[in-house]
Amino acid sequence: MKIIQPKVFLIAEPHIMRGELGEFLKLVGAPEWHTDASSDAEELSELMGRVCYRSFAPGLNPNVTKIREGNAPYLANIIEQEHGSIFEHSQLSFVFANISRVFTHELVRHRVGVGISQESLRYVRLDSLSASIPTIIQETPEAMTIFTRTFEYLEKQQRELSQVFKLDNPETSFHQKKRATSAMRRIAPIGLATCIGWSANFRTLRWVLENRTQPAAEEEMRIVFGQVGEIVTKRYPSIFSDFTVEKVEGFDWYKPAHRKI
Ligand SMILES: Cc1cc2nc3c(=O)[nH]c(=O)nc-3n(C[C@H](O)[C@H](O)[C@H](O)COP(=O)(O)OP(=O)(O)OC[C@H]3O[C@@H](n4cnc5c(N)ncnc54)[C@H](O)[C@@H]3O)c2cc1C
Repeated sequence: MKIIQPKVFLIAEPHIMRGELGEFLKLVGAPEWHTDASSDAEELSELMGRVCYRSFAPGLNPNVTKIREGNAPYLANIIEQEHGSIFEHSQLSFVFANISRVFTHELVRHRVGVGISQESLRYVRLDSLSASIPTIIQETPEAMTIFTRTFEYLEKQQRELSQVFKLDNPETSFHQKKRATSAMRRIAPIGLATCIGWSANFRTLRWVLENRTQPAAEEEMRIVFGQVGEIVTKRYPSIFSDFTVEKVEGFDWYKPAHRKI
């Protein structure tokens, strides 16, 4: 067995189509509008907020005589007012690699505002097993021995079953391989390393980040969402401006001043 560590990859973020946006701003009477956002994701959130009150410039809406300038103050006010729906426009896509099925099972409980693509163990054969080791196991030599011995044993069973079903025989059809692989995963450990693609809008991200870095959350969730927190708070500072970080038991706990906006 191979010992690995969970790893987070941010692979996609929003991109504003400048030509089309320019045309819209002309139409609404604000061709000069621009902001100081440090990313398209944050600009898009501000834009959608300004669409609500036509607040691109004073007077465009006669009811609006002054406007809040700047991306950070604008989004800070949105967060304070709990007008969180505007954060649903921007979405990020991550791949979480080297994570276990313990992790994925908990992750998929978050249903709102997410997209999920999970590595299929019906198709992907488990001829070698990897895992990240929970701290309590690492700290306890006897537990570590049992943990690795069990993984190695189960890995061996997977290989033996592959031979029983002749999975490496060129004559074996893909259909048969799929049937066998799907059956064989039933004796695989849920701690095995796999991966999952996860997309979430920023409103959801704020909630899941808080929920899954809190001290009561499962260790692997805290590790992965600690990495997510580090990425998103640096890259999208206005959207996460009200978050503070507290170290608890060596893990980062991301806490917002305004919850469930
Ligand atoms: C520390 C911890 C321990 C846990 N222990 C367990 C456990 O022992 N057993 C277990 O089964 N689960 C457990 N969970 C999972 C938990 O119960 C939730 O299912 C999970 O965190 C998803 O969060 P959510 O319900 O906020 O859903 P999300 O999909 O993240 O939804 C976000 C928000 O949208 C709203 N919402 C979503 N769906 C609905 C709906 N249908 N109707 C109305 N409003 C909705 C709610 O306000 C919700 O908080 C645990 C979670 C944590 C963090």
